[in-house]
Amino acid sequence: MSATTKTLIRGARILGGEPQDVLIDGETIAEVGRDLTAPEGATVVEADGKILLPGLVDLHTHLREPGREDSETVLTGTRSAAAGGYTAVHAMANTFPVADTAGVVEQVWRLGREHGYCDVQPVGAVTVGLEGRKLAELGAMADSAAGVRVFSDDGKCVDDAVIMRRALEYVKAFDGVVAQHAQEPRLTEGAQMNEGVVSGELGLTGWPAVAEESIIARDVLLAAHVGSRVHICHLSTAGSVEIVRWAKSKGWDVTAEVTPHHLLLTDELVRTYNPVYKVNPPLRTEADVMALREALADGTIDCVATDHAPHPHEDKDCEWGAAAMGMIGLETALSVVQHAMVDTGLLDWAGVADRMSFRPAAIGRLSGHGRPVSAGEPANLTLVDPAYRGEVNPAGFASRSRNTPYEGLELPGQVFATFLRGKATVMDGKLS
Ligand SMILES: [Zn+2]
Repeated sequence: MSATTKTLIRGARILGGEPQDVLIDGETIAEVGRDLTAPEGATVVEADGKILLPGLVDLHTHLREPGREDSETVLTGTRSAAAGGYTAVHAMANTFPVADTAGVVEQVWRLGREHGYCDVQPVGAVTVGLEGRKLAELGAMADSAAGVRVFSDDGKCVDDAVIMRRALEYVKAFDGVVAQHAQEPRLTEGAQMNEGVVSGELGLTGWPAVAEESIIARDVLLAAHVGSRVHICHLSTAGSVEIVRWAKSKGWDVTAEVTPHHLLLTDELVRTYNPVYKVNPPLRTEADVMALREALADGTIDCVATDHAPHPHEDKDCEWGAAAMGMIGLETALSVVQHAMVDTGLLDWAGVADRMSFRPAAIGRLSGHGRPVSAGEPANLTLVDPAYRGEVNPAGFASRSRNTPYEGLELPGQVFATFLRGKATVMDGKLS
């Protein structure tokens, strides 16, 4: 009898390579190799050529607890994350109360630990109450049990240049990063969708690309000026890609994320007036989508982040103008990335591991996640069946909300199993 749980994953293609066996002992990967013998009492998982990735890491999740438990909780959100292959998510600070103190971030962090489906790394607010006027207790949040390293007023832009500069200077002390929701507020007042041909035809107030690009340009310059780290949330335009590419060419410490929906959907969908397509930043044009895919492929964009934004039915089942902005994404992210990036030949599975695990974990300074699949490493793993094809059915989602833009769409790939520190949170495509 062994004291710890042992699992042998047989014939898995690690990062898409040749099939190998992986032995998990307790919380750790004990051995990787060919024709490993299953220890007595071990659970054997026949991977049969499925792809084994490090557990996915999301830099941008809205878990809604505390305050909006009608749309999501830490429990339902982390179950949703596990179902999507994630072993760690960063929980955004725009809760009620706002996560702007050590007390709130510790509460969210503890709930994640207690439920045990996925690690929850809280993001701390940059400013008190997300009001953009006074810096929050960044140091206290960094020193708390939650060990916050990512700070963001996401949902709102830190538009005051002096506040942004101070935040960038402050987080240097503990190797933190400011994650900016780049949206110039005056240029986007009343905005309903991307500003362009379609908004002109529909007569809806536009959200121009320049409102995003001008903030990114300012913030990469500020980060360089004070020698700090800045991360750009949900980059959505071709112009934003150019600015980030330029900043990186200067050697500045700038990173960026793209959402799955901005890699696939365009503003043409707004013609349906279906509020499920209403999101912030808005869906852009085909040319933007192609530029984002290319930038993710060449590494200009560091990672995919879901911006999983659950909303209750009543906030989405209404006319376009009144509907809340945002879509859920944890349970479809990997399938969308396979469809948009892998099946198109832009990224291989090693690239997916890099953009959905290694790099987001590095940006968030997470230890224990985004690690290589090799002996001695924590057993945070995702086993994916890339041959699977199926229509997206929100009725089966673990999330408490249903606001997905992919309902009925056929997407490739299925998360077959997820392991959090050796424990299966998902097996045979079902939550444990
Ligand atoms: Zn945002």
